[in-house]
Amino acid sequence: MRQAILQAIDDSADELIDLARRIHANPEIAFQEVSASRWLADALEQHGFTVQRGIADLPTAFRAEVAAGPGGPGVAFLAEYDALPEIGHACGHNLICTAALGAGIGLATAASGLAGKVLVLGTPAEEGGGGKVLMLQRGAFAGIDAALMFHPADYTLTARPSLASYRLKVKFLGKAAHAAAKPYEGINALDALIQMFVNIGLLRQQLRDDARVHGIITYGGAAPNIIPDRAEASFSVRAADSGYAKRALEKVINCGRAGATATGATFEHETQKGYDAMKPNRPLADAFGRHLQEMGWAVDLPPQRQRMGSTDMGDVSQIIPSVHPYLAIGKNIGGHTVEFREAALTDRAFQAMLTAAKTMALTGLDVMTDSAFLEQVRSDFSAGVKS
Ligand SMILES: [Zn+2]
Ligand SMILES: [Zn+2]
Repeated sequence: MRQAILQAIDDSADELIDLARRIHANPEIAFQEVSASRWLADALEQHGFTVQRGIADLPTAFRAEVAAGPGGPGVAFLAEYDALPEIGHACGHNLICTAALGAGIGLATAASGLAGKVLVLGTPAEEGGGGKVLMLQRGAFAGIDAALMFHPADYTLTARPSLASYRLKVKFLGKAAHAAAKPYEGINALDALIQMFVNIGLLRQQLRDDARVHGIITYGGAAPNIIPDRAEASFSVRAADSGYAKRALEKVINCGRAGATATGATFEHETQKGYDAMKPNRPLADAFGRHLQEMGWAVDLPPQRQRMGSTDMGDVSQIIPSVHPYLAIGKNIGGHTVEFREAALTDRAFQAMLTAAKTMALTGLDVMTDSAFLEQVRSDFSAGVKS
């Protein structure tokens, strides 16, 4: 079975690379991935999958399935395919989705000898909008026992945490006045907002090392000679677990209240839950790493200081045993940069994508054939407390 899986992925290599190039050349942002999702769904159908398009009320989401024998676990490979505004495929999602397609094609060739289901889920809007969160809420992950995906990076790691996040929008309302003639009659909403930023700067000393607070001013007044009667900003507040992220969020909101009190402005705010923290499944990550090393791919040592963002795969990992490993496509290139976008179109990137397809397929095979392993995956998942 192992040989048949690897052979099927090798046989599809040209098709996968061609699609990775095509998606890279046609970047589509969150929820607008019309071509990418169609190309992937078409390819899956051609390889024998039954595809439901536009699931979970999301036109660019899909669920592709090959049923093996009755009973057995559902193994899903997750495909992200959204690009970033303006900068294009600077997060390399053209490689994520084609690796998921390759893994699906590979494992599906073994399906007749297995029990369970092989799935490829098309999950839109990772970069904004949280397609996976909506799909989880709307039942699109039903019947899935293990969720696997890979992400390109400038390092190779089988597991890495990600941060839980909240979004915060604030608005200060004051009173306009002539800024030179009668400033004492105004209430300066921008001053209130600047005080909020200063308060956050002071707050940092009292926050845990894993906390992140970052924001921008989205409106700061109409003209220098008018005391601003309105000021608005948008923040992200993150931490290693959602409990602490929430507590940090409350402190940040208080920074805004203090600015309002000091200036006499009124304060309004709106919070939105971002993504949950990643809970990597250790047995799945170890199996992935073992297959990676069998293929001669070196795995890096975990860094002393992790640098990380947030992803909607975190939300999936809190509900279903999940693995979100990273494969290097270059050195010293951070995501969301022009350099990373160019790196996502190189031979090295395509090799990483094909290797990820194979290692995910073999890890999926472990889940479907080794009941003791599946038991380990499940007990590791239940042992972890939801963060
Ligand atoms: Zn990204
Ligand atoms: Zn990404």
